[in-house]
Amino acid sequence: DTIGRNLDRAVVTWPDRDALVDVAAGTRWTYAEFGADIRQLARAFLGAGVAKGDRVGIWAVNCAEWVLVQYATARIGAIMVNINPAYRAHELEYVLNQSGVSVLIATQAHKSSDYRALVDEVRPRCPELRAVHYIGDEGSWGALLTAADGVTDARLAAREAELSCDDPVNIQYTSGTTGFAKGATLSHHNILNNGYWVGRTVGYTERDRVCLPVPFYHCFGMVMGNLGATSHGACIVIPAPSFDPVATLHAVERERCTSLYGVPTMFIAELNLADFATYDLSSLRTGIMAGSPCPVEVMKRVVAEMHMEEVSICYGMTETSPVSTQTRRDDDLERRTGTVGRVLPHIEVKVIDPATGVTLPRGASGELCTRGYSVMLGYWDEPERTAEVIDSGRWMHTGDLAVMREDGYVRIVGRIKDMIIKGGENIYPREIEEFLYGHPKVADVQVVGVPDERYGEVPLACVIVRDPDDALTLEELQAYCKGKLAHYKIPAALRVLEAFPMTVSGKVRKIELRERYGE
Ligand code: ATP
Ligand code: MG
Repeated sequence: DTIGRNLDRAVVTWPDRDALVDVAAGTRWTYAEFGADIRQLARAFLGAGVAKGDRVGIWAVNCAEWVLVQYATARIGAIMVNINPAYRAHELEYVLNQSGVSVLIATQAHKSSDYRALVDEVRPRCPELRAVHYIGDEGSWGALLTAADGVTDARLAAREAELSCDDPVNIQYTSGTTGFAKGATLSHHNILNNGYWVGRTVGYTERDRVCLPVPFYHCFGMVMGNLGATSHGACIVIPAPSFDPVATLHAVERERCTSLYGVPTMFIAELNLADFATYDLSSLRTGIMAGSPCPVEVMKRVVAEMHMEEVSICYGMTETSPVSTQTRRDDDLERRTGTVGRVLPHIEVKVIDPATGVTLPRGASGELCTRGYSVMLGYWDEPERTAEVIDSGRWMHTGDLAVMREDGYVRIVGRIKDMIIKGGENIYPREIEEFLYGHPKVADVQVVGVPDERYGEVPLACVIVRDPDDALTLEELQAYCKGKLAHYKIPAALRVLEAFPMTVSGKVRKIELRERYGE
């Protein structure tokens, strides 16, 4: 169905339940209020002349308006372009022009970022951009809302009658973990269906309250979070405009959240807070962890100390709406840490030999491919790049290496691009990282391949230490590995860092580590 019609059903079924809470702003909406404000904003976009298929950009940190814009643009058949709030001028300009954004909704300023100044800087070079509205700005936001005045409900209904669930509703740029971001074009059916199934798999009902510290610009927040919640009548709780571990735990406690989302690095930051034990997190029962592999030790603490006994692991990618596999509510710790679950209903997965395309038997490692309703329409305006990843049988080639076990659960081995080939031996960084995680001085670790004259490539360990005064040496690290890891997997070099270069969706940019420390 379309996102607008699905929301209407939630409004009729649960009018008095909470739909949205913005903790930082101190604002909240019931489903009846949420539905009404979205209709007003949808009429405003119609009044402002937004046509079906027009691109409306949103370049904003997390806030309630972000969510209202998501549903209002979907209502009128516009294509919302989610823009990463960490982008600077040249990336913003690229995305605005690549997708042809005509109306932009933006944050005014957040922390050290002056979004207005950056918009002013690029605007002369974005010929299709005709209007910019700043969230919270009386002048430009107020002007947008007053555009609703002359627009009747009948006109909105007429527009909605033109929409199909297969129409594009979003252009979502990928995280840019392995290179420059690509604009995945997704339909109502793609993302609404995926949000619904993800929510159903964790067992959402109208009694759930979902804390979302993950960025809305990314599918983790806007599909698995927002659509996952509203398609089951659950409530969206926004702890802060950008990730803040203190604000997150505070929001869980205050709003009695039942579910908490995050990439592993977010959970690590929350667990490492000095006053972690003082928060009352007893309302939590579930949550979703995705985006990158979760270290076993972290998962154990999430279950035991955050009460998230049913926490779910999801695997997917922006291009597949995003989730393809997910753990189930009663899966044990082994399945939650060793695998990314099994395939969701109505989706297919297979593991192939990337060189020959032949499907491999269970237990063998190869490239994961997925097929089903979830596969994107394509990369926006880039048919050649689309053809590189979606084959003639509609299989999406993920670029991830995986094994399907006998029990149907999928284990992610790594990314093809991250694999280290040392003198002909394939090395998966994740295996070394998992092992080094057990070293008492290691707080966090990333392993990347760096060029080597003799072996082609060797593993470099980039480590954040627990105590900066207690230095870690390469000799110590190698001695720790000796006899326990195959000799070719033992890191040949060590860098002690204070932080890793990250994407806003919370992933480590290994490509940057390789570039920086390649020598
Ligand atoms: P880009 O494609 O721009 O380089 P990206 O692939 O990180 O960036 P996303 O679409 O946000 O962009 O992320 C999808 C990728 O994240 C997957 O292809 C996979 O490599 C990784 N991933 C997602 N979930 C998991 C998980 N649970 N465990 C391990 N890796 C995961
Ligand atoms: Mg990708």
